[in-house]
Amino acid sequence: MKEAKKKQGTARLMELAGAKKGRMTAACVLSVLSSACRMVPYFAIYRILQLIVLHYSEGTALAAQDFYILAGASAIGAICYGICGYCSSQLSHGAAYDILYELRIKMMSKMGRISPGYYAGSTQGALKKLLMEDVEQLEVFIAHSLCEIAAAVTVPVFTIIVLFITDWRLALVSLIPIVLSMLILSAALMKKDGAALQKKMADTKAVMEGTIVEYIHGMPVLKIFGRTSAAFSRFENDNTAFAEAVRETAYYNANGMGLYYAFFGAQVLFLLPASALILANTANFAADVITVLFFLVVCAGMKEPLENMMNLAIDGTKINQAVARIDDLLEQPEIQLKGEGKQITGSDIEFNDVTFSYAENDEPAIKNMSFKLEAGTLNALVGPSGGGKSTAAKLLMHFYEPESGCIKIDGTDIREVRWNELVKHIAYVFQDSFLFNDTIANNIKLGSEDATAEQVRNAAKAANIAELIESLPKGYETIVGEETNFSGGEMQRIAIARAILKDAPIVVLDEATAYADAESEAKIQEAFSRLSKGKTVIMIAHRLKSIENADSILVINDGQLVSSGKHTELMESCPLYREMVNANDRRDCWTMRERGGEAV
Ligand code: ADP
Repeated sequence: MKEAKKKQGTARLMELAGAKKGRMTAACVLSVLSSACRMVPYFAIYRILQLIVLHYSEGTALAAQDFYILAGASAIGAICYGICGYCSSQLSHGAAYDILYELRIKMMSKMGRISPGYYAGSTQGALKKLLMEDVEQLEVFIAHSLCEIAAAVTVPVFTIIVLFITDWRLALVSLIPIVLSMLILSAALMKKDGAALQKKMADTKAVMEGTIVEYIHGMPVLKIFGRTSAAFSRFENDNTAFAEAVRETAYYNANGMGLYYAFFGAQVLFLLPASALILANTANFAADVITVLFFLVVCAGMKEPLENMMNLAIDGTKINQAVARIDDLLEQPEIQLKGEGKQITGSDIEFNDVTFSYAENDEPAIKNMSFKLEAGTLNALVGPSGGGKSTAAKLLMHFYEPESGCIKIDGTDIREVRWNELVKHIAYVFQDSFLFNDTIANNIKLGSEDATAEQVRNAAKAANIAELIESLPKGYETIVGEETNFSGGEMQRIAIARAILKDAPIVVLDEATAYADAESEAKIQEAFSRLSKGKTVIMIAHRLKSIENADSILVINDGQLVSSGKHTELMESCPLYREMVNANDRRDCWTMRERGGEAV
């Protein structure tokens, strides 16, 4: 069966508008009517002037009735113009905000269903732009531009009809520059290179905005590491790329735009010789002079709607890009559930010939990895940086879908387990824990919303962080980020409290590479061991001393499981492990020398 062609731009926007389509159409129709009514006073004044001049040249009296009718029509036209315009604006704004509301809800709920791995690939800036600017751009387009486009197209059409009714010869002449300018504009918009350049401009702008947001967010870290100039140079490069894209687009469009501007304002240039020809050969000079004046005035007034039309056509291409970016999010693959959704009770883990590659890399990050972890055991993933330890842990959390092979918990393929069920089963303590701008209690309760204040306190105690929290004037009700800030080690202890409260049977710990001080390190280690008691633990370990007593150690390098076993076994059988342990010992020895001065 032939797949239906995917809609784009305004057509796709109408699809996203759903039930609001009717209101948007009504708003456009009213906008067109409003534009038509706007023409009535012009035409009435033309007829009045014509009557005055004709009666003056013939020396006859004016019929007051004709005046009243024309003046009345003019007043009704002006009133209808206002009423239709007002109703159109009300309808379009109402529809725009309803569409925006529904679209944001749709995007946010989609973001909740997308595999978490998506967020690793998207910069914060790009996502912020998508949810704020791109959606806002749609508001401006639906509430204002759409009706303006309807009017921008119909005002010249109505005007041309009126001109043809008045004098078809002058109307034809006045059409020549319009047709030429339209041809030039549509040729410019149709060109593939032009669209590609517009896209390049939008893409480089999005990258630059993403870099700015990251630059600002990362400023404290950059300052500490003295990397502000390096990060600034990345921003400078992105900024230059954007400026280059703008310059390229401007040069590319210069000829077309120049010609367009030259023609669309040139109606009078075409009308004057034609008018001179008509007036030189007329049988009714007075009537034709009025007609010529009418043409000159009306044609000069057509410049504005034509200019509007061009700007709106350019806006239309921006909307296409915004709609395409929104669609890109809406089409992201969701976490797939195979079957009805199974329950898991046990906590033994099995990787069965798992291979996985990140979309942006050719080389797999995990290659044919197989291992089994018994329930209630402490297991460590060790190996050189970039070997695939975090990726393996993320695959267990179903952040990504393996290309081949399967991952089982309690003998059940995790793809057959609902995401909510899976996350209830696993507690993940990240290396850089994130705390929300909320009370400390709510931060600890994340994932265990029904927990009592006492349970929160006990979890904090077990995580060695209760003393610090209780010393704050507002205790657990203190707002993080506003009323207090925590160090990296303290944040990790709060994250451990969160995991302790969750009491999940599987715990994934990403051991922090650097602790602030020895005391903090000891407190975290203690909290880790309390959290791990009785659980199936996977620890991504950076310091090998802490995992010497692990039930099993998995050595991972270059996406593969190199070896596994207990510490003593691996010291004998695995050269890579031996090398890493020796390097760790040398580092610890070096750290002691640093702390102890020359004494050691
Ligand atoms: P480790 O935890 O052992 O340091 P990772 O699992 O983080 O290793 O990385 C394994 C490989 O996958 C590396 O080559 C890394 O560059 C790559 N990688 C990690 N995260 C991503 C990502 N979000 N997108 C693309 N590649 C990634």
